Amino acid sequence: MNRLDNKVCLVTGAASGIGKRIAEVYADAGARVAIADLAIDKAEATARGIRDAGGQAMAVAMDVTSEAQVDDGVAKVVEAWGQVDVLVSNAGIQIVNRLTEFAFDDWKKMLAIHLDGAFLTARACMRDMEKRGAAGAIILMGSVHSHLASPLKAPYVTAKHGLLGLARTIAKEGGKLGIRSNVICPGFVRTPLVDKQIPEQAKEFAISEEDVVKTIMLKDTVDGEFTTVDDVANVALTLAAFETNALTGQSIVVSHGWFMQ
Ligand code: NAD
Repeated sequence: MNRLDNKVCLVTGAASGIGKRIAEVYADAGARVAIADLAIDKAEATARGIRDAGGQAMAVAMDVTSEAQVDDGVAKVVEAWGQVDVLVSNAGIQIVNRLTEFAFDDWKKMLAIHLDGAFLTARACMRDMEKRGAAGAIILMGSVHSHLASPLKAPYVTAKHGLLGLARTIAKEGGKLGIRSNVICPGFVRTPLVDKQIPEQAKEFAISEEDVVKTIMLKDTVDGEFTTVDDVANVALTLAAFETNALTGQSIVVSHGWFMQ
């Protein structure tokens, strides 16, 4: 069984959706979980929910695009619990538009959250691991869009592809200490991030919302099913608990067969 007893796990974007479920599953597996999010009220609520269920959790206010906030947030976790063993860099947003219509500010915002956020949080957590001479796991939240492109998603696809390079580099640099790094690549999961896209895409392609789901989002899955937060959280648990460098520098696609490697 995958256990994380006494491990300290920092999950970004853990106030909602996939990150929230990962935090809950990690806590159920015995971990002490830091819920890092821009939305501090929701992060506090998630942490409270975990503590009420008997787990250990703290909320950390963090904008992952801010070097100072990331370094301070990680320092707070280390001060409280002594270390960070597992990072899940998961915070993310989506902005959809045609490339020719994309505002440069929106492009930069997307790359800042997805790429700067992954770099800054990985750097801070890896520094702690290296200082202690300890192994650990750095998990980056990619997407099927780490492997495939879709129209309207230029910065998202670019950033999610970029995470593969970051994880592979962390795997190479962290290997001697047993710092493993992998990317999880989910298909569509019904979270606020996806719910927002359905009407936007319906408008852009002039089709119904039902058709966005059927003919765009789930068209290439083997069974027409959404991936769930539990599916992704269970893979995140396996990657966090896996103890050797045998599994590092990889991307694990969790998408009902939408993309097959
Ligand atoms: P969500 O909107 O439910 O949750 C995202 C969380 O990230 C929110 O709590 C938000 O406050 C937080 N966040 C946003 N910007 C932040 C910042 N600058 N600093 C800190 N926190 C910030 O979204 P989700 O669907 O759970 O997405 C989580 C991750 O999974 C994202 O990286 C997303 O790209 C990825 N993903 C989602 C899907 C999907 O279908 N939902 C598929 C593949 C990959």
